Amino acid sequence: MNKNPTNGSREPRIIPRAEHNVTRREFSDSALKVLYRLNKAGYQAFLVGGCVRDAMLELHPKDFDVATDATPEEVKALFGNCRLIGRRFRLAHVRFGREIIEVATFRAAAISEHDDHHSDDEGRILRDNVYGSIDEDVWRRDFTCNSLYYNIADFSIWDYTGGFDDIKAKRIVLIGDPEKRMREDPVRMLRGIRFAAKLNFEIDEPVVRAIDHHSHLLSNVPAARLFDEFLKLFQAGNAERTFDLLHDHGLFKEMFPATDEELTKTPDFMRFTRAALQNTDRRVKAGKSVTPMFLLGVFLWAPVRKLAEIRRSEEKMSESQSLSLASYEICAQQQRRISIPRRFTVPMREMLSLQPRFEFKRGKRAMKLLEHRRFRAAYDFMVLRAEVGLESEETAQFWTDVQTLSAAERADRFQLGQPGSKKRRSSRRRRRKKPAQES
Ligand code: ATP
Ligand code: MG
Repeated sequence: MNKNPTNGSREPRIIPRAEHNVTRREFSDSALKVLYRLNKAGYQAFLVGGCVRDAMLELHPKDFDVATDATPEEVKALFGNCRLIGRRFRLAHVRFGREIIEVATFRAAAISEHDDHHSDDEGRILRDNVYGSIDEDVWRRDFTCNSLYYNIADFSIWDYTGGFDDIKAKRIVLIGDPEKRMREDPVRMLRGIRFAAKLNFEIDEPVVRAIDHHSHLLSNVPAARLFDEFLKLFQAGNAERTFDLLHDHGLFKEMFPATDEELTKTPDFMRFTRAALQNTDRRVKAGKSVTPMFLLGVFLWAPVRKLAEIRRSEEKMSESQSLSLASYEICAQQQRRISIPRRFTVPMREMLSLQPRFEFKRGKRAMKLLEHRRFRAAYDFMVLRAEVGLESEETAQFWTDVQTLSAAERADRFQLGQPGSKKRRSSRRRRRKKPAQES
């Protein structure tokens, strides 16, 4: 097979429309408009990458990458609704309402391994910014299944790497030398796992070996980029399968070292994590929203609890306070690997530190929990703990029921007195009592 430009020909295998199943119905009208207009203006216009792969598999692609020999400026001249983005390598974004079609000019292939100026000590690519032709563009792509070009001129597919057969055989195969390609960009290890999980493909043996050899290089990847990858890995509806593959291939421990340590030690935590992953997948498949802070909270829960106990043995504080403190410290550690934006760490800390408060089912304190801005997430988290036996079913049921009650019924259930009554003051005093130990 021809997976390397240095020992293969640069002629593509052209698969005519009659010999493949990719129909234009799988592509959005906006993507087709962009392709047709480029083509009419005399440029080459292809769809490339994930959308061609997914169309072949009838998976209804949602984002569309266009590749062309027109320069970004030439693209801009053709489309009024176009913005150029990126300084190092310019891309054109053509906007249609909420949809954006990304149009990239063909780029030259990755440079030689011996060229010191282009890669760091471990072989990571630092520069990759020269325009080229399609037969150069193809070799810098990652997997063969991501390297098919759909030509709008005659609806044929251009295949330089054997991707067409690899998709049919359900194989994840790297273009070029897997060891070198993983060193160039260690994120490819995560991408390989992600596509294997999403498509139910098998990872080619040399790719598995390259992951084994290079998993530690993930620590060189900027933490912000890993957060983006984290979202793609765990919020695409295949979180559980992705997790299993990451775990089996030693990549999960590179992303979440503290979590991984607890997972191997505590079967309960593994069950809890799995329940959360399944829950996330169910939500995504049902079209419900998911927030990364929930799963991050799940991943960090065991390390946070462990540290909270240590902090509580060192200094007198409530269980909630110790959880809040420990969340802060564990998050700070985790940020070295994956940078989690503050808009997620702050609510996550609240969600975790509210957990012991579900034990208090009476008085103003219980009412306040119900009214807390983070109640919903904390409640979902608690219900999940109850599902795997880490919280009592009775507690979960109580908080489920209480939400359906009217204000008056709630006051009754929480055994609240009338405002200003003696009962109210006594509940305040009760708050100082040592909280119950969490199950
Ligand atoms: P999906 O959109 O389902 O995540 P995709 O394959 O379209 O999958 P993108 O991240 O949208 O993935 O990238 C588009 C294309 O760019 C890929 O198909 C691949 O050809 C190329 N590509 C993306 N990231 C890399 C990388 N790290 N190394 C090499 N090529 C890449
Ligand atoms: Mg894509």
